[in-house]
Amino acid sequence: MKKKFTFSEEYFERETIATLTTLSNGYISVRGDPEFLESKQGTFIAGVYSYTPVFYRELVNLPRAHAIYAEFEGVPLKPENVLYTLDVEHGLLEIESTLTSPLGSFAYKSVRFVHKNIKGLLGIKASIKSLNARGRLFVKAPVELEFSNPSVPQEVSVRLFRVVSLENKAYPRVEVVTADDRYKVYIASVASSVPEAPVNNFTTNSKIGQVLSLDVRPGDILNLERLAVYGFDSSTVDSALTNAKSRGLEGLLQEHMREWEKEWREINLNVSGDEELADSLIFNTFHLLQIYNDQSDVFAIPAKGLHGYGYRGHVFWDTEIYAFPFYLFFKPDAARKILTFRCRLLEAAIENAKRNGYRGAQYPWESADDGVEATPREVPLDLTGSKKVRIYTGDQEHHITADIAYAVDMYYRFTGDKDFLAECGLRILVETARFWTSRVEWDTRLSRYVIRNVIGPDEYHVGVDNNFYTNLMARHNLELAASYSKRAQSDISLRPVLDELRVSSEEITTWENIAEGIYVNCGEDGLCEQFDGYFKLKDYKLDPGVIGEKSLPPSVLQSIQDYQLIKQADVVAAMFLLREKFTREVIEKNYEYYLPRTTHASSLSLPMYAAAALYIGRIEEGLRMLKIAAQADLADVYKNSKDGFHIGSAGGVWMAILFGLLRLREGETITFEGPEKAYGLKLSFNIKYRGKTYRVEL
Ligand code: BGC
Ligand code: BGC
Repeated sequence: MKKKFTFSEEYFERETIATLTTLSNGYISVRGDPEFLESKQGTFIAGVYSYTPVFYRELVNLPRAHAIYAEFEGVPLKPENVLYTLDVEHGLLEIESTLTSPLGSFAYKSVRFVHKNIKGLLGIKASIKSLNARGRLFVKAPVELEFSNPSVPQEVSVRLFRVVSLENKAYPRVEVVTADDRYKVYIASVASSVPEAPVNNFTTNSKIGQVLSLDVRPGDILNLERLAVYGFDSSTVDSALTNAKSRGLEGLLQEHMREWEKEWREINLNVSGDEELADSLIFNTFHLLQIYNDQSDVFAIPAKGLHGYGYRGHVFWDTEIYAFPFYLFFKPDAARKILTFRCRLLEAAIENAKRNGYRGAQYPWESADDGVEATPREVPLDLTGSKKVRIYTGDQEHHITADIAYAVDMYYRFTGDKDFLAECGLRILVETARFWTSRVEWDTRLSRYVIRNVIGPDEYHVGVDNNFYTNLMARHNLELAASYSKRAQSDISLRPVLDELRVSSEEITTWENIAEGIYVNCGEDGLCEQFDGYFKLKDYKLDPGVIGEKSLPPSVLQSIQDYQLIKQADVVAAMFLLREKFTREVIEKNYEYYLPRTTHASSLSLPMYAAAALYIGRIEEGLRMLKIAAQADLADVYKNSKDGFHIGSAGGVWMAILFGLLRLREGETITFEGPEKAYGLKLSFNIKYRGKTYRVEL
């Protein structure tokens, strides 16, 4: 089982490596770029967004405080053969290179960490060894201020913060504010060296920092230590930096490493029997763990993690449906905070419903920090913005609201945390059910409730009626609101919530009636139609194993909506999520029909099909898909890892393991049924269930 992952620019683009080697503690996040290179890769603080054209709000690329630029005899040194090693066991990024100039060369090695417990703190220890150089070495450690966010079209980049103040007395200190004035961020940094080199301060328009200089001979080593602190409050930042300085980088580094060892001991994950799967599971688990900040009240997980600009840091259903099970069993507190984030956005969701003419709460398809719909309406394809693609997901992809309700129920069933229901879980269930009561329409011809004009998980088909996934999840949402409210009626801690929300027995009956009356179109053989008219579309089957749209002829691609081709699991997703309501035969029937018609163009597809396959006992096939899904980033399967980490597929793989392969079920204690056979795969780990830790061994 690998604990260290080495990357070089021979195999991956620099941007891709920067995603794969991102370090985070759930508060600050630093993409993996070498300290000695000018870089726009990005430093983020979770939750710090600013207004931006097109994408509404996006994660802000903040000043960079980890650069280390070396000059020899006044000539900047250039790197050769950069090697990146991500040490997942200890949460470290190690970078090695040779820095050269016509006057001499140096061996460069660094270790970087984003401290696991001291949330604002970033540390770097670098050694610069003269190989053949004799003369004066200058090393600069700046806080860099010239940053913007890349945008669409690529040539346009938006600057999302302003510098408010600069100070360079005891150490460089910067105060910036996001372009929309919503967040103030302070950054302070300090550099020192062994042997102790004289330090000078410098300030330019774009940089503020320290410069150290030393005379070197071949064999001499300059050990540089750099600490930087990010935070929302100037005095906290100052005291954190002063504290860190007096404790010393080495001690902080050791503590950070011990914390990571502790984290891994808690999970005690062991995988064998399939080396590639083992490696990617460990790698993904590290990334899922490191974005969780246990000191924060909420946990918002962007679809691309805190790892890049993809989807501008927006939060989708990837969180509740795909990533949630991982946190539920490994970090139940994190699962609660995922939902607490949605609680905070409930008022905005109520506003959103109102704006769209509905009742209750309608969660936006894409959320930033404020819960207002953040899906771009149109994406410009050229510089002038005259060519635009209209995006309908924000208007029509309504299933997210039911997905959040689904996660509330999953959380309660597996944790029994009634306080959460009282605090806000019940409120989410009620308000989301109210949304669906206003969203459905009565169809007199069918004598059924229908949901018209939606986009399901399969986004190839826009404006469809009665999408199976949406209808089924909406029905489930209504059923949940009814059953939880009924139980709450006779519960002293929950009754007041019902009263406050003015939930009456009549309203509960309405939910039940609508739920019962929602239309789904399934044949006698159990095959269900993805939406009205789907089976009448032109048929097209893909070769087994094909991922993405590349193999499709242009004529098909141009009118993909006319085909039965689908982007990702839709009917099968609903059936897997609501597996207790379907027989294995029915799931299998639909799985067999839809799988060959799925392009898997979304990374969310394979984990769901894998989960379904494993659940119905098609283990070998399920494991094959699981493996590809697990490698989404490590093998850059979707060729977009540069935009960020695929949280949904990393989490989705765990969903498939926990609920598909092992078939976990809640009860007095946790039980699991599967699998009959695991084809040599050995897995063991600790999960948390109702305050106890259980060892799972396969
Ligand atoms: C995604 C949608 C998303 C849209 C705009 C598309 O690529 O498939 O889910 O809403 O981009 O961000
Ligand atoms: C998928 C969505 C997903 C989004 C963010 C899109 O391509 O179709 O289901 O939520 O990406 O990952």
